[in-house]
Order: sequence, then C-alpha cells, then structure tokens
Amino acid sequence: MRESLSAKKQRVLDIISVFDQVYEDAECTLDYTNPLELLIATQLAAQCTDARVNLVTPHLFQKYPDVHAFAYADELELQEDIRSTGFFRNKAKNIIGCCQMLIADFDGEVPGRMEDLLKLPGVGRKTANLVLGDYFGIPGVVVDTHATRLSNRMGLTTGKDPYKIELDLQKVVPKTHWASFCHQLVYHGRAYCMARKPNCDECPIRHLCPQKL
Ligand code: SF4
Repeated sequence: MRESLSAKKQRVLDIISVFDQVYEDAECTLDYTNPLELLIATQLAAQCTDARVNLVTPHLFQKYPDVHAFAYADELELQEDIRSTGFFRNKAKNIIGCCQMLIADFDGEVPGRMEDLLKLPGVGRKTANLVLGDYFGIPGVVVDTHATRLSNRMGLTTGKDPYKIELDLQKVVPKTHWASFCHQLVYHGRAYCMARKPNCDECPIRHLCPQKL
C-alpha cells in the first residue's frame, strides 16, 4: 500500500520518539577534538569502521598536530601511518591535498559552508554533512552505509544513490533531527538492523517498519 508523505512523516516522528529513548546519547562514534581532526577522521572512515579509525587517530593526531603538519607530510610516511584504514594511498594523497587547500584558500581553517567543504580533495557530501552537523551545528543528513541500508528497509527511500537518499530523508525527517537521526541509524544498524541478519523480532521499531508490518 502506498504511504502518503504526511503518513510517512508521522511514522518517522514515531520512530524518532523510540530512538530518542533507546539511543538517547547517540553521537558521532569517531574520536576528535577539533574540526580538522573530525574532517580527517571522517575521510579515513571511508570503507573502514569507526573503531578501526579510532585506533589509528590518537597516534596520527599526535604526530601531525595541525593543518601544516598534514599539508607538508611525507606522503609515503603518511600512507604507512594510515595503512590499516584501507585505501591508504588515496587517503594520504587526499589528506595532504585537502590540508594544502585549507592553508591556501581558507586561512588554514575548516570552512563551515557546504560549497567550500566540497571543494576539498577527498571530501564528499557525507563528510561535509558530518562536519557541518557535528562541529558547526548546521543540520545535515549524513548518508553512510547504515543510513543507506536502514532507510531502504524502513521504507523512507528507494535506491542506493546517496544524494537521492539524503533528499528523501530531508523530506520526512524534521530538520532539527537530521544529524541526530543519522547517528541513531548507525546505532540501530549495529544493534538490531545488521546488514546480513536483522533482528526484526526484537527490534524496538518493528511496529513502524514495513519489513515487519
Ligand atoms: S524491523 Fe527489521 S528491518 Fe525494520 S528496522 Fe527493525 S531490524 Fe531493521
């Protein structure tokens, strides 16, 4: 049965009210202390788990304490420092390029506008939305692997294109909840709605999910 937009919005509100109880403190699971660290940690998290990134970044951020240290890093050495996060050659190249552009075009600061963030090497909408939402407090819908899988299963979007999913979620999730809802999707994806075998029988939103209705 086709669900109207208003019915879907109400269903999302009901999902959020459950999520707010179950995942009250859901937040970004990457460790960082400033926007540059968040920007770099998010780039490292591509095709890698946040837990793995969190193992690498304490040493990394100690060795490269600021934007200049990354911008003028030895690329081969940086590759070795981030090797365990996968795709390390590409990531090292992008991190250096990104930090060089931050120095050249943004006074060494991480910009707080989507259009500026998207100019940086290695920064796509997912990373930009995460930095905007988590550091600058500007609402953003972060579409990662969990948001893609769960929003499809929950009937909030169709397809796998991240930008389409971002727009579909923007239509049904209140703007004030964009950032927190995406963090809650990550938590829910780990706790119940796993990729291979979702635990629908014990899922706290099973009464709100088309997979179980
Ligand atoms: S009912 Fe199943 S598919 Fe739906 S959100 Fe819960 S675990 Fe995922």
